[in-house]
Amino acid sequence: MKRLIYPGPEEISAALGRPSAANRDIDSTVREILAMVRSEGDAALRQLSRRFDGYAPASFKVDEETIYQASAIVVPELREAMQEALSNITAFHSAQLTGSEPVMTADGVKCWSRDMPIEKVGLYIPGGTAPLFSTVLMLAIPARLAGCRDIIICTPPGRDGRVNPLILCAASLAGVTDIYAVGGAQAIAAMAYGTESIPSVYKIFGPGNSYVTRAKELVQLEGTAIDMPAGPSELLVIADESANPLFVAADLLSQAEHGTDSQVIMLTDSKIIVDQVEAELKKQAALLDRNSIARQSLENSSLILLDTIDECLDVSNRYAPEHLILATADPQRHAAAVVNAGSVFLGNFSSESTGDYMTGPNHTLPTGGYARSYSGLSTASFMKKIFFQEVTAEGIMKIGPATELMAGAEMLSGHMNAVSVRLKFLEDEQNRSTGKA
Ligand SMILES: [Zn+2]
Repeated sequence: MKRLIYPGPEEISAALGRPSAANRDIDSTVREILAMVRSEGDAALRQLSRRFDGYAPASFKVDEETIYQASAIVVPELREAMQEALSNITAFHSAQLTGSEPVMTADGVKCWSRDMPIEKVGLYIPGGTAPLFSTVLMLAIPARLAGCRDIIICTPPGRDGRVNPLILCAASLAGVTDIYAVGGAQAIAAMAYGTESIPSVYKIFGPGNSYVTRAKELVQLEGTAIDMPAGPSELLVIADESANPLFVAADLLSQAEHGTDSQVIMLTDSKIIVDQVEAELKKQAALLDRNSIARQSLENSSLILLDTIDECLDVSNRYAPEHLILATADPQRHAAAVVNAGSVFLGNFSSESTGDYMTGPNHTLPTGGYARSYSGLSTASFMKKIFFQEVTAEGIMKIGPATELMAGAEMLSGHMNAVSVRLKFLEDEQNRSTGKA
């Protein structure tokens, strides 16, 4: 890990540069995969699965018996842990569901909005080096709470053709049973276009490798929505003298083990903390199972000594980290100064890993500086709002003249006329009734 003692602004910018973006060489491969699945459906999926996963099932859909058996072989303690996570994630996400009260914007003009679930959503769960069954919970729970009608999961099988039982168990706990054993860019294509066995969806969620990410970007251009731009994981820790170096080092390493392109940064106003965290990192890194991954990502990473914690907060806000830990004596006060971050952890006992599994907020978060403009996943990600307005005769008399004026100024005489005919109608009606009187 690089060590920067009172660096200048340019040195800071260089240290906070994100590892280079996914290479574009894969573009033609991904385009070819999308085109194949679009034109040949299941036959293409089978061919591609054989090539990339080493296995092509007769039927992509995982049958109910397999899902049931998978849950039974997961050790009870782990199943209970999943249940505990499920209950916390459900509690946090339920609170996001709020109704909308009608608003009278003018006399006779009533407006309201209705949250409608996206009818069909697809969740992508990667296989590979670690089975991310926690992501199943993080995607499926808000989808269910939002009320999505059709929720499907695509996830690659192992070389033996089986989907990881932990993924199946988490899916069934979260109430999703439409699971397809297909991965990679071809899975994204299947969910975007639909095949004989896999239904198409309106929005695709979930992490993946650079092929999956590129496939999501490409299908988005064709009209299938996606959750957010994906990139390597990040953690920024702001630590003052009150921080526990043992905890800080453990947190930095926990995030560094995600992938070789992960980035972790520590900002501090204490020289002692820099020395102590550095020593702890050396000690703890050797003990990690994913030691070689963590070591590589630490090369993109820095320990930075600055003058004050306020300066640390400034730098953090410019960087806009996916995860931010405030290991300071007054984390509440510092949290109030956070402007850009995906998810914030306050105080010495809030480890970032508790947020990955248990605390309740979503762990699908904006990376790569997108925290400046994007939020993490919530029930809103699985919904859209429909607006309603009801204008009475009284209402059109109130807002009609201003509407006519604005439409006329925009040279849209048709728009103006649609109001004018109504105002004229009401005027005539009034004349008739006063004439009679
Ligand atoms: Zn993590």
